Amino acid sequence: MENKITVNGLSFKPFITQRQIAGRVAELAAEMRRDLEGKHPVFLCVLNGAFIFAADLFRELGINDSTINFIRYSSYAGTQSTGKVKELMGLTEDIEGKDVVIIEDIVDTGLTAQHMVEDLRKRNPASISFATLLHKPQSSKTGFQPDYVAFEIDPKFIIGYGLDLDGKVRNLKDIYVVDEP
Ligand code: 5GP
Repeated sequence: MENKITVNGLSFKPFITQRQIAGRVAELAAEMRRDLEGKHPVFLCVLNGAFIFAADLFRELGINDSTINFIRYSSYAGTQSTGKVKELMGLTEDIEGKDVVIIEDIVDTGLTAQHMVEDLRKRNPASISFATLLHKPQSSKTGFQPDYVAFEIDPKFIIGYGLDLDGKVRNLKDIYVVDEP
């Protein structure tokens, strides 16, 4: 694992290794596989941040009779502080009567997650469950509780393994946390 790195003038230190991630992805997949037994789930990967986690989790799940699609939310456009929500884009698949599993990178305040679940419920799926790589429970403004969490973490800024800073460093194989004095 690399040591400290600097991105846009901010210093980051190693936090969760590639190996630890792989271990938790396998554990999470085993748990989800049990819960999804006999179902034909529709996975929805939330772009951009979740694409690497989703690729690993989806393959580890190994459910041949499932589909994966990619959704995203329009950006906040300056309304983040008010908690105003964003618009769902890209969902072309009919999810009525289906068992939907959302795959997200991180749940911070929970506002995005809560809004996403409400939006998807309007399309009458049989069920919706929510898997996230990272969860910051102390940042929650909603009480939103994901069904599957790979790592619960303190409310600090994270990069790597799909998570960006200004669009960069999604390629890092390990997860890094901002190095505050
Ligand atoms: P929420 O609506 O839960 O507050 O925010 C969720 C979104 O905020 C995530 O999908 C992600 O895009 C962004 N986010 C929250 N915390 C972090 C973080 O520590 N690092 C990065 N790179 N993005 C974050």
